[in-house]
Amino acid sequence: DLTAPELIEHADIAMYQAKGSRVGSYQVFDPAMKTAAADRIALRSDLDRAVELKEFTIAYQPIIELRSGRLTGAEALLRWKHPERGHVSPAEFIPIAEESGLIIELGSWVLRSACAQAAAWRKEFRRRVEVSVNVSSSQLRDAAGFVTAVRGALAESALPPDSLELELTESMIIHAGQDTLAALSGLRALGVRIALDDFGTGYSSLGYLSQLPVDCLKIDRSFVSGLERDAGSRGIAQAVLTMAQSLKMRTVGEGVETVEQQNFLRQAGCAEAQGFLYSKPVPAEDVSALLARGLALGSSGSRRQRNAG
Ligand code: C2E
Ligand code: CA
Ligand code: CA
Repeated sequence: DLTAPELIEHADIAMYQAKGSRVGSYQVFDPAMKTAAADRIALRSDLDRAVELKEFTIAYQPIIELRSGRLTGAEALLRWKHPERGHVSPAEFIPIAEESGLIIELGSWVLRSACAQAAAWRKEFRRRVEVSVNVSSSQLRDAAGFVTAVRGALAESALPPDSLELELTESMIIHAGQDTLAALSGLRALGVRIALDDFGTGYSSLGYLSQLPVDCLKIDRSFVSGLERDAGSRGIAQAVLTMAQSLKMRTVGEGVETVEQQNFLRQAGCAEAQGFLYSKPVPAEDVSALLARGLALGSSGSRRQRNAG
């Protein structure tokens, strides 16, 4: 026996769920939805405070060159330590930050911090260290504002623009308007590189891809994790790598966890890799320690064993 306001609330929650799924879909209200909705509302107000309370940090996940095992750079990944809940996954809080608009501020903060960090590594280890930063579709909506944020982060850190890579998903670039594509091309002209994240899960055609301002394809973890057991994944990975080569794009295999996956990617012509086999996302100091040791990560393939002594 629900009151009218309760009924409306439930309908509203179910509609919200439906909007989050396929276009034209519907959802029947379920009490669990109410808990989930209340959770989102609580998280949303906690997120707003989290910036001032400095609850965000950035973890860096090393990216290695498959040929040598050498670290080429790292991907910046946002971390939120909630005072009561502990670590909240970005998969959970980023959509909420996008909804509330907070992602603009948060995204700029990640850009500035990551550029400053890469510049610091560059200075300390006197070598090129690249940094990859994830970009949300909300940030791209204001193309001019986004360009200002990127230029600001580069100017402030004095990081050479070609050491910064921006990660966008396939669907973001396919749905991008002319102003966004022009903004991305402008950033590329400065030297900034554009990578397509989670590649292979969208629907880009080869012809269209070749016209886009893109430098690098990151092969989605779902294909990499299927490499050992599933011919379909091997086929897709191989097709993406062949395509990337003909388009002269760089490639990064994501979510590499085993030596077998690594070896497949290396043999298939993939240039770089990232995954738990090499390192989890770690605090910046841990990446500094890796850079200081200068060791190759992963297991040797074409790489020769160095002579002892
Ligand atoms: P993503 O950009 O695809 O990032 C890679 C995710 O895969 C990370 O999850 C990373 O921890 C995980 N990963 C890396 N290697 C392995 C592996 O070998 N095995 C497995 N099982 N997982 C691996 P994380 O950090 O939880 O981030 C999830 C997503 O949240 C990211 O996916 C990205 O879409 C988003 N995200 C994270 N930081 C930011 C940010 O600063 N801005 C925006 N807009 N999105 C972010
Ligand atoms: Ca990414
Ligand atoms: Ca990814």
